Amino acid sequence: MNCDKCGESISTGEECRYLNQTLCEDCYIRIVDRAKTCDVAATHAAKKHRAALGQRGTEGLTELQKNICRFVEEQGKATREEIAGKFQLTDFEMEKQFAVLRHCEVLKATKEKGRVYIVPF
Ligand SMILES: [Zn+2]
Repeated sequence: MNCDKCGESISTGEECRYLNQTLCEDCYIRIVDRAKTCDVAATHAAKKHRAALGQRGTEGLTELQKNICRFVEEQGKATREEIAGKFQLTDFEMEKQFAVLRHCEVLKATKEKGRVYIVPF
């Protein structure tokens, strides 16, 4: 399998899914990081919205989002596969939930020893 972005070959199990793309971890981290930068306005709006509602931490999130946060906090870190498996999420749903949690600065992605983990923000 090859990375959709840079074309580098990815060994099985190392590939990262982002929306409909299969990416190597480097490209994945780069896209997630860039998404974070581009999303400053969205993050700001989400934070402002939550602040206006007096929401902090996991307040105002859906049950599923709260459960994902709790799971990640309990584990300290979790891979997307672990989270998706635990909550029976498709890649698309996982991305959607993670995007919201990242916007609200509850969770973030980090790379550790060559693996991507979701950790508390
Ligand atoms: Zn790549």
